[in-house]
Amino acid sequence: MKFYVLTLFPEMITEGLSHSVIGRALKDKTIELEVINIRDFANNKHNSVDDYPYGGGAGMVMQAPPIYNAYLSIKDKLGEGCPVVYMTPQGRPFKQAVAEELAEEKEIVILCGHYEGVDERVIEEIVTDEISIGDYVLTGGELAAMAVIDSVSRLIPGVLNKEQSHIDESFSDNLLEYPQYTRPPEFMGRKVPDVLLSGNHGLVDKWRREKSIERTLKKRPELLEGANLTDKEREYLNKLKGE
Ligand code: SAM
Repeated sequence: MKFYVLTLFPEMITEGLSHSVIGRALKDKTIELEVINIRDFANNKHNSVDDYPYGGGAGMVMQAPPIYNAYLSIKDKLGEGCPVVYMTPQGRPFKQAVAEELAEEKEIVILCGHYEGVDERVIEEIVTDEISIGDYVLTGGELAAMAVIDSVSRLIPGVLNKEQSHIDESFSDNLLEYPQYTRPPEFMGRKVPDVLLSGNHGLVDKWRREKSIERTLKKRPELLEGANLTDKEREYLNKLKGE
């Protein structure tokens, strides 16, 4: 999997992704990252890449030609149908299911906007998908791009230490993850649930599944509609709901 990021702030991306699990995956080339500085394609003596909006209004708009030329500089390397994703608060909401969908791709181009956004015509010309990481407005698309790259990368085999690690996680089955505990066995008078110390894997699995259902009902009940529950688990859910 290779990510190409078109940005005015390349260090945000390279530095932000150089640590921990993703940093290691980049080092050992399980994933690859190429960051393209849009300013390198400014093509004017002041190196400017933004201008006032036609029609007036606050702020500056990123101009189409530098973005387009930055894209052209990598276009020949891209396979047929490579998605070009614009990070924008107007995009489709980023969810685990979207991360799973993107993890199927061989390469992804991500365009990060800044200031008041990007000239609409370059979006029309090159963008195939628009993604938002939430209903709030960031100053730029870089943090959003990093969120996407991080969550997609950890689905790529070999990025996490154990391939299992993302299987039971929150949202993987429209359920939130069960509570986790580690040593010490007692903290501030709170004990680790006995079942987790029992060594009985069947009981542990059942307990975890029930806790997932319980906390999804409490924290994000709307997720349960899409959850894949067995008849027994559905009975358990109905009991929790008092039905
Ligand atoms: N004027 C734009 C609007 O109202 O839709 C917002 C521009 S925002 C200040 C600057 C850039 O940050 C956007 O072009 C986009 O790339 C990025 N951005 C801001 N919020 C985002 C979000 N929730 N998800 C993804 N990208 C976001």
